[in-house]
Amino acid sequence: MPNTKHVLGLATSELVTLCEELGYPAYRGKQLANWLYRKGAREIDSMSNLPRDLREKLKGVAALTRSRVLRESRSEDGTTKFLLELADGETIESVLLPYGDRVSVCVSTQVGCPAGCVFCATAECGFVRNLTAGEIVDQVLTLRQSIPEPEEKNAKQEPQDPKTHKRVTHVVFMGMGEPLLNLQNVLKAVRILNEEVGISMRRMTISTVGITPAIRKLAELDLQLTLAISLHAPDDNLRRKLIPLSSKYPLEGLIAACRDYANRTKRRITFEYLLLAGVNDSPAQAATLARLIKGMLCHVNLIPYNRVIGKSFSRPSDFTIREFRSTLERFGIEVTQRLERGHAISAACGQLKRGTPASGTIDEN
Ligand code: SAH
Repeated sequence: MPNTKHVLGLATSELVTLCEELGYPAYRGKQLANWLYRKGAREIDSMSNLPRDLREKLKGVAALTRSRVLRESRSEDGTTKFLLELADGETIESVLLPYGDRVSVCVSTQVGCPAGCVFCATAECGFVRNLTAGEIVDQVLTLRQSIPEPEEKNAKQEPQDPKTHKRVTHVVFMGMGEPLLNLQNVLKAVRILNEEVGISMRRMTISTVGITPAIRKLAELDLQLTLAISLHAPDDNLRRKLIPLSSKYPLEGLIAACRDYANRTKRRITFEYLLLAGVNDSPAQAATLARLIKGMLCHVNLIPYNRVIGKSFSRPSDFTIREFRSTLERFGIEVTQRLERGHAISAACGQLKRGTPASGTIDEN
C-alpha cells in the first residue's frame, strides 16, 4: 500500500481535515486524535465512538499501522529494551527508562544508520531506511503501555484511570539512526509528541554526530529542544576515524553552528564524549576539547563505553576518567557523567538487534 495515508503521524488539524473531506464534522477528527495519541488505539475498528461508516471510509483512504513487540528485556533497575517489528518486517530498538516521576523513552529514527561509527553496534547493520514520523511516535505510544503501575500506596491517591499515570515525560532521539539525516520526519514527530502526546520540547533531546547544515536549520527554527552532539574526539583526524561520516562536517564549522544554536535558542548544548581507553582519553586531548568549546553555553557528558562483541575498544580506568574530567573542569567546562542503566539487557544502541550480550548506558540529563 505505498500511497496509503497513515493516520499516525498526523496532527489534530490534519485529522480534522481528513474527516471533513470524508463528509464528517471537525469534532470527529478530534475524537480520532484522542484515540490515536491519548488512548493509543491499535486499530481503526476499535474507535467505538466513531460512526461505523466513518470508520469504513477511513479504512478506505488511510491506514493505522503500529509496531509489534518482538522482544522485551527488563533490567533490575526497570530499564526495559524493546525490539519492535515495523509493518514492512524491519526491526528497530527502543528503550523505556522509568525512574520515579521521570519516564524517558529512547527512540530510533532510522532502520540502521549511515554514520558508520567504528565503536557502535548499529553501524554494522548498515543503513536501510528512514523511519516515518508515525513510526517514531509509535515507539513512544508502544512503550508507554509498559510503564509499570505506581506503588500501592500512591495508587490509592491517584485517579484510577491507567491512562492518567502512564505518562512519558522525556524523549531522547538516541536510538538507532542519525536523526538529523531524517530531519523532516523527526521534526514532525517532535511536534506530534509535543502537541498531541503532551511532552514538553525542553524534555526532548536530539543526539547527532553533527550534521552542520541541519543544525543551522534547527537553530533558525528556534525550538526549545536540547541538542546533544556526539563529539567523541577533539580533532578532525581522530574524529573521522571514529565517526567516518564526520569527515563531511569538519569541527570548525560544526562548533560554529553549535555556538549559533546556543546563542539563538539559549539552550545549553550537550557534548557527548565516549571515553575509549588509549584512543581519546589523554589529558592533552581533554585540554584540546576544552579549548574547542570554551565560552559556549554547554557541558560535556562523559560516556563510559559499553563493550560490543567483536570490537576491540575498552573503557579507561577510573583514574584516567577522573583525570580527563578534572582537566576539563580546570578549563571551566562543566562536566557530567552518564549513569549506567540497563545492565544485562544489551541496552546500548544496536545491541539487542544483533543479539549480543552486553550492558548498556542511557543518558541521565
Ligand atoms: N546517531 C546519533 C544518535 C544515536 S547513537 C548520534 O550518534 O548521536 C546515541 C549515542 O550512543 C551516541 O553518542 C553514540 O556515539 C553512543 N554509542 C554508540 N555505541 C555505543 C557504545 N557501545 N557504548 C556507549 N555509547 C555508544
